Amino acid sequence: MSSSTPVPPAVVFSDWDGTITSLDSNDYLTDNLGFGRAEREKMNEEMISERLNFREAFTLMLESVHHPFSECIDLLKAKIPLDPGFKDFYTWCKSQGIPVIVVSSGMMPIIKALLENYLNDPSTAEELEIYANDTVFSEDGSWTIKWRHPESGFGHDKSITIKKYIKDAAYPEGQRPHFFYCGDGVSDLSAARETDLLFAKKGKDLVTYCEREGVPYTTFEDFQDIWNGVRDVVEGKKTIEEVRQIRK
Ligand SMILES: [Mg+2]
Repeated sequence: MSSSTPVPPAVVFSDWDGTITSLDSNDYLTDNLGFGRAEREKMNEEMISERLNFREAFTLMLESVHHPFSECIDLLKAKIPLDPGFKDFYTWCKSQGIPVIVVSSGMMPIIKALLENYLNDPSTAEELEIYANDTVFSEDGSWTIKWRHPESGFGHDKSITIKKYIKDAAYPEGQRPHFFYCGDGVSDLSAARETDLLFAKKGKDLVTYCEREGVPYTTFEDFQDIWNGVRDVVEGKKTIEEVRQIRK
């Protein structure tokens, strides 16, 4: 970061599926085009109890979907809603110079297609910084996930991405922004300890994990709650600790 670049008041890292979107697109594909919801829920239990890691379970889910990729994207565009508070939150963040960084265990082409669809504006969609897995396409039309960190049980170890982002930003001594993370699920476990305040979606697996592991968090229902919390901290109305005490 050059000396002319101001240090932002905050940086908000966020999961994509089930957090910025109201439903998880990979769960949706598995439930409707792949091996179905009952099988996926069994697999989720295996992950929570750590008999299967996220990368292994996610691979099995995606491998059960044999539809062409373009068909999957069309279905997701029609069925996966954007979080109702996200657009206003993002607009406010831009006005405050607060970067919003997407850190996803999903696949880049799906995220980009949905984002353009939601924001209805390719240039705004381009502004959002996204770290995700990729997709590999074969000549026969089949596709599969390309992991960002294939050596990790998470496939994309979000803690590595967040640590690297903060290191590369090279904030001047004593001028570091507040760091926030927003997530809902197993794929966020690797990020759960990396920021000052973790927003975990009410009633979802990330809350279960945080309770079990003693990871501090607060809860949210949609991005309006996250907005309230981030704004109160940035404007000095509440401390991180005070926002953490708020439970939905
Ligand atoms: Mg998620």
